[in-house]
Amino acid sequence: MARFDLPSLEEGQLKSWEEKGVLRRALDRQDNPAGDFVFFEGPPTANGKPGIHHLLSRAFKDVILRFRSMQGYRIDRKAGWDTHGLPVELEVEKQLGFTKKQDIEEYGIAEFNAKCQESVWKYLDLWRKSTRRVGFWIDLEDPYITYDNGYVETLWWILKEIDQKGLLYEGHRVTPHCPRCVTSLSSHELAQGYKDTEDPSVFVKLELRDDPGRHLLIWTTTPWTLPANVAVAVGADITYAEVRLPGVEGTLILAKERLTELGEEAELVAEMPGSELAGTGYRPLFATLPQDDPAAGGAYQAYEADFVSTEEGTGIVHVAPAYGEDDAELGRRFGLPTLHTVDATGTVTAEVPGQGKFFKDADAEISADLESRGLMYRSGRYEHTYPFCWRCGTPLLYYAKGTWYIRMSELRDRLQENNREINWVPSHIQEGRFGEWLREVKDWALSRERFWGTPLPVWSCDGCGLNQTLGGLD
Ligand SMILES: [Zn+2]
Ligand SMILES: [Zn+2]
Repeated sequence: MARFDLPSLEEGQLKSWEEKGVLRRALDRQDNPAGDFVFFEGPPTANGKPGIHHLLSRAFKDVILRFRSMQGYRIDRKAGWDTHGLPVELEVEKQLGFTKKQDIEEYGIAEFNAKCQESVWKYLDLWRKSTRRVGFWIDLEDPYITYDNGYVETLWWILKEIDQKGLLYEGHRVTPHCPRCVTSLSSHELAQGYKDTEDPSVFVKLELRDDPGRHLLIWTTTPWTLPANVAVAVGADITYAEVRLPGVEGTLILAKERLTELGEEAELVAEMPGSELAGTGYRPLFATLPQDDPAAGGAYQAYEADFVSTEEGTGIVHVAPAYGEDDAELGRRFGLPTLHTVDATGTVTAEVPGQGKFFKDADAEISADLESRGLMYRSGRYEHTYPFCWRCGTPLLYYAKGTWYIRMSELRDRLQENNREINWVPSHIQEGRFGEWLREVKDWALSRERFWGTPLPVWSCDGCGLNQTLGGLD
């Protein structure tokens, strides 16, 4: 008996399909006794090699299409190529030896994009081979390509429809931001980049404005955000303690439950609820806020907030609306200024110690400065998980800026309804991983401040503030 050799049987089958032009004939068929079955492949990227996970998902797609064919459906089997986005840019940046976004601007954006367009076809041959070899029937002769003007125009039309439903908006929000790529990251991208790392851990004294010698004690692992501090938050129902310590000038105020941070020699002077601390003013650590800032009036005092806990730190939370989500929310609620002391490339721009340095590298100088002015109660190191850019490994920062969103949160009910109609395999995904995500669905931050992508069709006039979303080239 001849040896049973699966690979050569497969090659024989593929060859016979090709000789008979079976795929072409299936695509050209116009009769559709059961109707049309619409299929556009979720497009792979051809600037990366096909992996085993692609083969698996494509096998599933193929089985379903064959099944529908046998039921009498007519199918276009539309192939597609995903060509836009940051991964492509990073590949080209590497080729050209660029290290920052400004290098691209100097090189020329049109030239850079031309390189990107070229690079996306790098592994097309491998993709063709693997597509053929696994017997995936898909029309590679007429694919949709995401950089095609026709495709881009379709996206513009969709965005205009979304805008007309009132679901497109520009929000000034704090988003995870990569200072090297100089762009926001989605929550999905963020989730891919957490690493254990060691950061400074500093306890800083804020002297009360009207009561020198008494201090609010705050804790942070990001000293570089301290020049952007404009307020502190306290919990209304948290009990605070004012204590005296040997060798420490004046008194310190912190949550009673957090007294463990100070050791056993703390001598209790007074106790008060957080609601009583709210409204207490303190002296700014740095003179960073312009005197004429219209929002300056409410700055540098304690506010009540729900997000304050006594699980770590001091129960008094340092608030920098430019660099934290809770901070920005509190700032919006009380009309606090958003003070940027670091720019979008992560460089310290404010006139503070560490000016001109990368934000993380400024930590030490800022701490040393506070130390020299007697404002540091204690400093050390702290091990925790911190997000890094999943593409380039740079530490991220949370950064307040204008970003375009689709109001997914408003569509939550309909998304959940539709999810219930889907026949999930395995079925636990329906209410599990996917259902979970839909229950918590967040507005989708879709803009990126980059070059190789679909330009947003939103035109706004600085003069009159008019915003217009165009639905096409005409
Ligand atoms: Zn990055
Ligand atoms: Zn105008």
